[in-house]
Amino acid sequence: MSKVVKFGGSSLANAEQFRKVASIIRGDKSRKYVVPSAPGKRFSNDTKVTDLLYDCYDLAQEGKDFKKALQVIRERYQDIIDGLKLEISLDREFEIIQEQFEKKAGRDYAASRGEYLNGIVLASYLGFTFIDAAEVIFFTGEDGTWDAQKTKEVLSQRLKDCKNAVIPGFYGSLPDGRIKTFSRGGSDITGSIVAQAAGVDVYENWTDVSGFLIADPRIIDNPKGIEVITYRELRELSYMGAGVLHEDAIFPVRQEGIPINIRNTNAPEDEGTWIVGSTCQKSKYVITGIAGKKGFCSVSVEKDMMNSEIGFGRKVLSAFEEQGISFEHMPSGIDTLTVFVHQDEFMSKEQKVVAGIHRMVKPDAIEIESDLALIAVVGRGMKSTRGTAGRIFSALAHSNVNVKMIDQGSSELNIIIGVENSDFETAIRAIYDIFVLTAI
Ligand code: ASP
Repeated sequence: MSKVVKFGGSSLANAEQFRKVASIIRGDKSRKYVVPSAPGKRFSNDTKVTDLLYDCYDLAQEGKDFKKALQVIRERYQDIIDGLKLEISLDREFEIIQEQFEKKAGRDYAASRGEYLNGIVLASYLGFTFIDAAEVIFFTGEDGTWDAQKTKEVLSQRLKDCKNAVIPGFYGSLPDGRIKTFSRGGSDITGSIVAQAAGVDVYENWTDVSGFLIADPRIIDNPKGIEVITYRELRELSYMGAGVLHEDAIFPVRQEGIPINIRNTNAPEDEGTWIVGSTCQKSKYVITGIAGKKGFCSVSVEKDMMNSEIGFGRKVLSAFEEQGISFEHMPSGIDTLTVFVHQDEFMSKEQKVVAGIHRMVKPDAIEIESDLALIAVVGRGMKSTRGTAGRIFSALAHSNVNVKMIDQGSSELNIIIGVENSDFETAIRAIYDIFVLTAI
């Protein structure tokens, strides 16, 4: 049995958190490869080291004095080193960082130093080998996307020779050696890549919550946790905004069928959530989770005999594509087709899109509605349970929520419901109550 363990910024924010992390790693010999984030917030209005680095680099780029800002970052690490009574010095590292900032080495380089330095400190504390992610994680030159093949070749070879290692999260290198980062929260992706390359049995992702919750705790008081969720279910939920894990972190491990276990550094006894490829384990409730987002617009296009006009859907969508707008959902009727888009993306281009639709399909009418919310009710159990949609809609009707749109995914894994923004919270509570509270 071997595992990759990734620790988020709040798990490594100070010396006390480092001690918890070390005891988790030492408590299980199979925790062989460790991927750290940069130190996160120590208290609620603290600033993450990554943000301090971005700000510091911006000063350097504007030709302003950045040394004081760099000193603040240096003290964050020194506090950790002193708190852990380590003998190491980061003096030389900070000299190099200062030189690189003066040379304007780039914002990605700057941000990556958070993970890089934390990796050095953690490796020294654990007595593990330190592997600079720049030497094992690669991006392509053309469009800067992750180079899966080269990474796998180099990284798996490197890990073969290593019993234990710390590989900092969030960054890698371009073919010319420059540093590039993933998007924010990207250490989750590094963890997944390392798990794939090492071919481990489990990817543990340690954070500050005990896994996923069935619904947003800002809307539902004390919601139940999710014990097991499939990758596909999670995709449906995370894409609606339930982000504990970076969306892109799923793909590398999913390819290899490696499960992800989300765990809580501050409550290591909790089992957390298991994210798996497939499972015969039924979820406790018919639904696995509910997630949603406000701020959508619907654009309904009406035309008699639409259903027999070949290419109608494609032409309508091309009016959105021309303006660089992606769509979320597209339910249709016999003579109508509705496209759901993000309001903030759509607003400034509204008239251009409408003109485009007129030009392409000569509709009878176009109706636009704004301030809508979409709610995804997701669950692998829905496929084999009759009456799920019926229960959702009677719960919503009882709560006086007007349902504007219903869209059941063809996989029968999700039902998407469109409501007015103002009904969003009420609708989520009604669905949670009917499936979770009254199911007990
Ligand atoms: N430190 C980076 C961030 O704050 C990456 C990460 O934590 O995953 O986004």
